[in-house]
Amino acid sequence: MLYSFSQICSALVDLAKTKNVDVSTLLNDLEQVNWDDLKKLNFDRVCSWCNKPYRTGNRYSRDHFCPQCWTPERHKISLYVYLQVRRAERYQLPATLTPKEWFATLKYFGWKCAYCQVGPYDCIEHFVPIKQGGGTTRGNCVPACTSCDKKKRSTHPDLIKSIPQEDLKRVRKYLKRFS
Ligand SMILES: [Zn+2]
Ligand SMILES: [Zn+2]
Repeated sequence: MLYSFSQICSALVDLAKTKNVDVSTLLNDLEQVNWDDLKKLNFDRVCSWCNKPYRTGNRYSRDHFCPQCWTPERHKISLYVYLQVRRAERYQLPATLTPKEWFATLKYFGWKCAYCQVGPYDCIEHFVPIKQGGGTTRGNCVPACTSCDKKKRSTHPDLIKSIPQEDLKRVRKYLKRFS
């Protein structure tokens, strides 16, 4: 992993804290820095919410948020987002949707189905289905209720008859902003 300048700075600040010295002392004595200590300061994750690097004690942890940003709801939804991201990856399709982007989309649709605007959000719906080459990206994913999801299934949006055209048009317009 490559470290940004600010990551290195915060690692130095952290190291100074644990050694109970100030950073200038640390910089003056760089030769005496215990490099093993520095190696331990591996920021092995980047928070999906605030984009800041953070450390996790457990590299197998499925968390994607730093302790400041973690909430049970964000955690649960992010696991689902990453599941869909991995699905797209398996088909070698664009797979860039982040939990934060997904939350913004959910907020835009009022946590309701993007198609009928009545049913509650039940799943991440790929406007162009994965099996037809649609990736898990902000420009291709909207929330859907179970009923609309069943209607749409893996039909291409150009061919679907069971969802009103004006709803498809509205959703397409929203997605176009991000694709
Ligand atoms: Zn964070
Ligand atoms: Zn619906």
